[in-house]
Amino acid sequence: AKSLGRNNYQVYAANVDTAQQQQGELKAHLRHAERNGELRVFYQPQVDAASEDIVGMEALVRWEHPQLGMISPGFFIPLAEASGLIVPIGEWVLRTACAQAKAWEDTYGLGLRLGVNLSAVQLMQPNLAGVVASALKETGLEPAQLELEVTESISVKTVPHLVETLDALHALGCRIAIDDFGTGAASLDYLRRLPADRIKIDQSFVRNIGVDPDDEAIVRATIEMAHRLKRGVVAEGVEIEQHLQFLRANGCDELQGYLFCRPLPTAGFDKLLGERERL
Ligand code: C2E
Ligand code: CA
Ligand code: CA
Ligand code: CA
Repeated sequence: AKSLGRNNYQVYAANVDTAQQQQGELKAHLRHAERNGELRVFYQPQVDAASEDIVGMEALVRWEHPQLGMISPGFFIPLAEASGLIVPIGEWVLRTACAQAKAWEDTYGLGLRLGVNLSAVQLMQPNLAGVVASALKETGLEPAQLELEVTESISVKTVPHLVETLDALHALGCRIAIDDFGTGAASLDYLRRLPADRIKIDQSFVRNIGVDPDDEAIVRATIEMAHRLKRGVVAEGVEIEQHLQFLRANGCDELQGYLFCRPLPTAGFDKLLGERERL
């Protein structure tokens, strides 16, 4: 069960030709996916590096297609972005996840933080802060519990008002995380210019812990630099004990990855919180 995500990916890789032929058709289906109730939000825990207690979760969308089965976001998010459908889909994910986080807060009172991914297309919408504000107001989730993840591949050039938009989101009381940190060409510029509360070290670096001393040095230096700038650090893609030990020894704050838990559907995550065991 651990390799659910990878299995999905393999299904896609194997069917890539078919998938390309069906692209136009899929786009039309995607348009109805939300209305037909085919989208799902999965939740992956983020744990405190020292205690391994669950301190938050990232919302990750999936599309449960009636014929094709569970479709990975790596496949349909680009389609949704190209067609503009990411705007209503992203808003649906935001509202659904905020409502769920509020329900978990009411039941368990753990103060868990909710991470929600934002695409460049959403960041270009002039009313994004208004959309986020109304999602918070309607669901009753504390703004400080919401962390918006902005991937480093989004450039200040393609999203002209990026800094202002993030400032407006920050002003609502939400937190901002730089996702996939270290993979773009502008990591340091981002760290300097964006109102980010924390960074998420990309899994391509984490994967090379114990393999590539250069990547280990980058991970160590990134944690050190983030802390000097008073930013928190999460590592993603933590898959093996060796990753955990290295990241803990080097002061990484939080961890996310298959070593602890894969992304779970709502019921599965609820069960996890109910048991409230260390992962
Ligand atoms: P991301 O934001 O970098 O999310 C982390 C991805 O790594 C997720 O893939 C997660 O399932 C996977 N992952 C978690 N732990 C591990 C691990 O230990 N090893 C490995 N190899 N992978 C791990 P997922 O769910 O397939 O999502 C892929 C990407 O799709 C996300 O990357 C994000 O960029 C995008 N995405 C997902 N949900 C949304 C959404 O609601 N809105 C937008 N705009 N993008 C989304
Ligand atoms: Ca993310
Ligand atoms: Ca990421
Ligand atoms: Ca990624």
